[in-house]
Amino acid sequence: MIEVKGLCKSFGDLKVLKGIDDSINKGKVVVVIGPSGSGKSTYLRCINYMEEATQGQILIDGVDITDKSIDINEIRQKVGMVFQHFNLFPHMTVLENITLAPIQVKKMSEEEAKQIAYKLLDKVGLKEKANEYPNKLSGGQKQRIAIARALAMNPEVMLFDEPTSALDPEMVKEVLEVIKELAQEGMTMMIVTHEMGFAKEVGTRLVFMDEGKILEQGNPKEVFENPKEERTKLFLSKVL
Ligand code: ADP
Ligand code: MG
Repeated sequence: MIEVKGLCKSFGDLKVLKGIDDSINKGKVVVVIGPSGSGKSTYLRCINYMEEATQGQILIDGVDITDKSIDINEIRQKVGMVFQHFNLFPHMTVLENITLAPIQVKKMSEEEAKQIAYKLLDKVGLKEKANEYPNKLSGGQKQRIAIARALAMNPEVMLFDEPTSALDPEMVKEVLEVIKELAQEGMTMMIVTHEMGFAKEVGTRLVFMDEGKILEQGNPKEVFENPKEERTKLFLSKVL
């Protein structure tokens, strides 16, 4: 579903991604961990074209998104993204947040977009919040709405960048449950997270990033129990 070849990304002189190679099969859940500043967010942002790769190739469902002639909107429809800080539109209701892109980008009728939105609200357990504004919601609720909003575009891949890092502890579980359900339904996902229990339970593969590279990867349980690299050991000793 996703193929990354020699991906490099620099900001001016700062080399952030230094050659990433990976492929993510359909229906798999890749959990990305690593120290702060190692390039995890930049990596995800390159995959949905929020950042342009400096070098290398990213193929999504066979389409090379680093090809200059590509339609960016088309890529963004295939790849949904959920952020640490939700990024809901504050001046729009929950329903408007979810229906905006389907109506504007996909040219869906308002009727159909609303129907889909209600289905997704039901899925994330927030049907009764359709007409609320985001500031009336808890962090966990906002994040579940953000997930529903991303799903409304019917993406083939979902990217999560520390989806629970900004949440109070008691709200982490409700968000992880929604993500877990998506995994069980076969959604292809990449998740940056510090929730190691979740990584072990839901991840089909764990990727450890350090200084802009994939330093180590494998079955989450095996990497946790038996990390090969010193850097991985050191990192895991701090977070586990
Ligand atoms: P992580 O998510 O692993 O913490 P990031 O991908 O956010 O790491 O950042 C990696 C490095 O890239 C950091 O040094 C950060 O300051 C730098 N960086 C990220 N985005 C930008 C940007 N838009 N402009 C300049 N530097 C950036
Ligand atoms: Mg980050």
